[in-house]
Amino acid sequence: MPAEDTIVALSTPMGESAVAVIRLSGPACATIAEGIGGAAMSPIPRQIKLFKYLNINGKQIDDCIMTFFETGKSFTGEAMLEITPHGNPLILQQILEDLAARGCRYAEPGEFTRTAFLNGKMDLSQAEAVADLIHARSTLSIEAARKQLHGSVGRKMGELTERLLAVMACLEAYIDFPEEDLPRENQSGPAADLHQLIAEIKELVETQHYNAVLHDGIKTMIVGQPNVGKSSLINLLTGTQRAIVSDRPGTTRDYISAFIMIGSYRIELLDTAGLHIASDELEQLGMDHVIEQAETAAFFLLVLDAGQPSPRLPKALLDRITPSNTLVVVNKMDLPHAETHSDFMPEFKHVALSVLDKQGLEVLRTDWQEAIERSREIPRNDGVIVNARHAAALQEAVDALELAASKLKDGELTELVSADLRDAIESIGEVVGRVDNERMLDSLFEQFCIGK
Ligand code: GDP
Repeated sequence: MPAEDTIVALSTPMGESAVAVIRLSGPACATIAEGIGGAAMSPIPRQIKLFKYLNINGKQIDDCIMTFFETGKSFTGEAMLEITPHGNPLILQQILEDLAARGCRYAEPGEFTRTAFLNGKMDLSQAEAVADLIHARSTLSIEAARKQLHGSVGRKMGELTERLLAVMACLEAYIDFPEEDLPRENQSGPAADLHQLIAEIKELVETQHYNAVLHDGIKTMIVGQPNVGKSSLINLLTGTQRAIVSDRPGTTRDYISAFIMIGSYRIELLDTAGLHIASDELEQLGMDHVIEQAETAAFFLLVLDAGQPSPRLPKALLDRITPSNTLVVVNKMDLPHAETHSDFMPEFKHVALSVLDKQGLEVLRTDWQEAIERSREIPRNDGVIVNARHAAALQEAVDALELAASKLKDGELTELVSADLRDAIESIGEVVGRVDNERMLDSLFEQFCIGK
């Protein structure tokens, strides 16, 4: 953005609310504060002021509150003004039009955060965390985004870079002081450090899967023969009549997706077309879909009917389910002579349930949460979790480091090893934004909402 621009955006949703927030960033903020507040208004940094908003023709639009932030001490690093009018769309529209008439430009999506990044107020991983925090849909993902916003990823990248630089310094001692005749075995130290670094960065790359779990939810399939009560269970869990419930087998033709929370985890529930041998083409299509979905699902609830014999499961499903990614839910325990199916796949955890009587739901939720925690090994500590973009950059670093390690092992020239280490450091730098790729930044910040 040109340095002389002052940008403006509504930072809260356009609609009726008690109050709303309009944000400005840029050099004209102080002048605008004086303009909209009348001659008496000279903004004092970080002090809240109640004022009558006067438009460019001197007509009052609303009673508002404003807060002014001086250059260098604001979110974006530029002078900023936050105006809090009443949350009426007509008032908001008039204020936005007035600010445009005073020379402000409407901000692009993510432009405030982008400015903060460009002004060195945050690294790129922190900028991403702002978006993550806004879009987080589980308490766990809020927690992860907050850690990242506080610089956890940046600090980890800084530490890795320092350690790589130390390895490089050690190796370059051979280039700089060949006449010192440093003993060759001294290289075993850097080699060991290098292997340790490779292992750690690989672990970090793996954490991108947790990221997907945190942000998108754990894709969970509810599977079982037709009529065992899968749709009824989804309705009970979601508290809505989302799925079609019918006593005619095979009613749920296609899969239905719904989101729920189990403890701190966001779950994407997929109802399926049952598991029996399809009797017509349409059902077969549904079954193909089940198999396809099973490929991508991370967790399964296998529902059995306490009033029916144990099922025979299709091989495609048997290949996917394990005691650690599946709970067996025995439904309809209210029926007389209900069968617990305890001999059916005894190595799997069983939960007894009656959707009809709403019995067993709490036990199901508890066992479900425990099973997720066991199956995904979600880091509960201060562990750094990276996103897909970070993981791609870190993978490049791993590739460069592995190349460096093999060259070191083969006794190749130290200069060549150092060149690979430098590549790795550059890739690690990309995580926090030491990049000069405008297009990458454009695509990243386009995903933000306006006003952020
Ligand atoms: P789906 O084909 O597996 O999705 O099964 P549905 O949810 O459509 O349920 C099939 C039938 O079983 C419906 O008539 C439900 O009312 C009934 N049903 C579901 N849960 C229970 C339960 O806990 N006890 C009893 N007795 N019937 C149930």
